[in-house]
Amino acid sequence: MPELQDIPARNARILATLRDSREPLPSPNAVALELMRLVERRDVGVFEVCRVAKGDPVLVGKAVRLANSALYAGLRPTAALEDAVMRIGVAALARLAVGLSLVHTHGARMGDFELEPYWRRSLARALVLQQLARRRHVLPVSEAFSLGLLAEIGQLGMLAALGAQALGQAEAGEDLLGWQRSRWGFDQSEASAALLHTWNFPQRLWLALLPLAQVRDGQAELTAMVEVARGLASALDGHRRVEDLPELWMAALRLGLDEALLLGVVDQVRGDFADLAGVLDMRVSQQHAQEEFQRLRSCLGAAVPDDAAQPACVLLAGPLPCGRADLRDALRDEGFNVLSEPELGAGFERARSCLPEAVVLDADHLPMEAVELCRQLREHESARLYLLLLGDSLDADGLLQALRAGANDVLPSGAPAAMVAAKLHPGVRVVRMIGALERERALAHGRQRELAALNARLREAAYSDELTGLPNRRALDEFLARAWENAVAQGTSLCCVLLDLDHFKLINDTHGHEIGDVVLRAVARTLQRQSRSDDLLARWGGEELVLACPGVSPHVAAQLAERMRAAVQGMQERLPAVTLSAGVAQASSGDPDAVAGMLRAADAALLQAKREGRNRIVVAGATQAPA
Ligand code: GH3
Ligand code: MG
Ligand code: MG
Repeated sequence: MPELQDIPARNARILATLRDSREPLPSPNAVALELMRLVERRDVGVFEVCRVAKGDPVLVGKAVRLANSALYAGLRPTAALEDAVMRIGVAALARLAVGLSLVHTHGARMGDFELEPYWRRSLARALVLQQLARRRHVLPVSEAFSLGLLAEIGQLGMLAALGAQALGQAEAGEDLLGWQRSRWGFDQSEASAALLHTWNFPQRLWLALLPLAQVRDGQAELTAMVEVARGLASALDGHRRVEDLPELWMAALRLGLDEALLLGVVDQVRGDFADLAGVLDMRVSQQHAQEEFQRLRSCLGAAVPDDAAQPACVLLAGPLPCGRADLRDALRDEGFNVLSEPELGAGFERARSCLPEAVVLDADHLPMEAVELCRQLREHESARLYLLLLGDSLDADGLLQALRAGANDVLPSGAPAAMVAAKLHPGVRVVRMIGALERERALAHGRQRELAALNARLREAAYSDELTGLPNRRALDEFLARAWENAVAQGTSLCCVLLDLDHFKLINDTHGHEIGDVVLRAVARTLQRQSRSDDLLARWGGEELVLACPGVSPHVAAQLAERMRAAVQGMQERLPAVTLSAGVAQASSGDPDAVAGMLRAADAALLQAKREGRNRIVVAGATQAPA
C-alpha cells in the first residue's frame, strides 16, 4: 500500500501514461474547470460563481433542474441559478459541473465500448452513493452524487488512452483491477482518483476511490460506501453478477448494511432514477431501467450470504499448519473453506483481505511473532475471529501472553486434525453469533439515528421558515412566551423590534418575485449576522421580521434596530437596493396579555416610522417595565 505522501506522485505518473496517447482524455469543459479554480479562493461569492456558470447555458439548465430534482426532495421549486447555487453549495456546484460536463461528451460509443450503459451505471452509482451519504451523514448529497458519477471515470480515461485492451478480460468477469495493475502498473480506480485529483477535487473525495485494500485511517467509511455503490451499479445490465462481487459484500459488512437496507437503497435509487436521468439528458428506456432494478432486487435477495449455509473460512498461517496436508484435507472434509498463508508475517494482511472466521497459526517457529499476530488480529477484528495456536515451543509464560493477546486456544503441534476441527466448529459458531448480534445492533443503531435525524428535520421544518431559513412565527411565539415568563420571574425587561422592508412591493413589481425572494433572503442573512446570540430573529410573515430582545431596555433595543437598519442599507450584494423601517416596544407588566400588547405597540411605532418617511426607527412611548 503506497504511503499517503507518495500518492500525488503516483497520480502524476498515471496521468503522464494516460496523456501519452493519441486520443484525448475525458476532460471537463472550460466553465467547469474555471469553477473548480474559482472555489479554491475563499473570497468568491455566489454571484461570481453564477456569472462564470452562465458561460455554459446547458450547465445552468442542468443545475437548476438538479436543484429541483429528487436529490433535494421536499424543498420548494426554484427557477433562478442563484437559488440553485445556494441550495447546492458553491463548491459542490463546481464539482457537479465537472460531472455534468463529461456526460455524453464522447457520443454514443468509444470504439466498441457502449457509453449509454456506462453512464446509466454511473448514474445508478451516483444515486446509491447519495442515498448512503444521506443515511450516514458522511458528506453532502451533491458531493456524493458527483463522486459516484465520476467514480469510474478512470475506465473511460484508460479506454481513451490505452484502447479497448485496457479493459482486458472485463467481459470474462476476471479480476479486472488486478489484471490492469499487472499490465499497466495501475488500475481504473487509481486512474479515477488521479483524474479527480488533477481536476482539483478535494483529497478526501478522490482517496475514497482507491481500492478497499488501500484504505486509510479515517477514510474507511467513505471508501466502503463507494465500494457498495460501485458493486450495486456494476450489477446493472448484467454487467457483473452480485454473487461475484466480494468487494460489495465486504464493504456492506463493514458498513453494517444487511439485505433489507441494501434493498431499501435500491428501491430509492429506482424511484429517483427517471428524474435524474432527465436532468442529465440521458435518453434511456425507463422500462428497461426499471426491469434492471427489479432484476437487481431479486438477485440481491437471493445472493445475500446465508450464514448457516455458508462454509466457514479458515486461514492457516505460518509454515506449520500450512505444511500439514492432513490438516488441510481434514478441514476441507469437515466443510471448511481453507486458505493458506505460509508466511506468518503476511498473515495479518491476508486475514484483512480475505476476512476468515478462524485463523490457525503456527506458534512453533516464531512463537513471539505468533503472539504479536494474535494481538494485531484481535485488535483489528475484535470478537469476529476465532484464533487457534498450534505449537509446542511456548512456555507457561508464553502461553499466558498468547491468551492475553487474544488467542482462544492452544493445541500441541501434532494435535490430530479431528481435534483441531472439533475446536474450530464451536469457535466459528460463536463468532457468527457475535457477528449476527453486531449486525442487529448496528441496524437498530442505524434506525435510531435515522429516526432522530428525521425528527430533527421535522422539528426544524415546523419551526423554520422555508424561504429564509429563519425561525418562523410559531418559534417566535414560543420564544416570546418563555422570555416573558423569565422576565417576570427575574424582574428583567423584554423588548421587541418589528422590522418591515420599505416599498418592497415595488421591488417585486420592478424585478420580479424571484429577485424579491433573493433580496429577502439576503436581508435575512444580513440581519442574522447582526443579531446577538441571546436575541431571536424570526420571520413574522411577508417582508416583516421580528427581533425579540430579552433583558434589554427600549433604548438598547433601538440601538440594535439602528444597527440592523444601517446594515441593510449598506448591503454590498449586487441586488436592488432596499431599506427598512422598524418599531421598537417593551412588554408591560401591567398588561394581562403583555407579549401581544408589545407586538401591537411595535406595529404602531412601525406605522409611525413609515409615515415619517421610512428607513428609520421609532420607539413606542415607553410603557411600564415589569416589577
Ligand atoms: P411599505 O414600505 O409601506 O412597507 O411598502 P411595501 O411595498 O413593502 O408594503 P406592502 O405591504 O404594500 O407590500 C408588501 C410586499 O411584500 C407585497 C408582497 O408581494 C411582498 N412579499 C411578501 N412576502 C413575500 C415573499 O415571500 N417573497 C416576495 N418576493 N415578496 C413578498
Ligand atoms: Mg409589510
Ligand atoms: Mg413593507
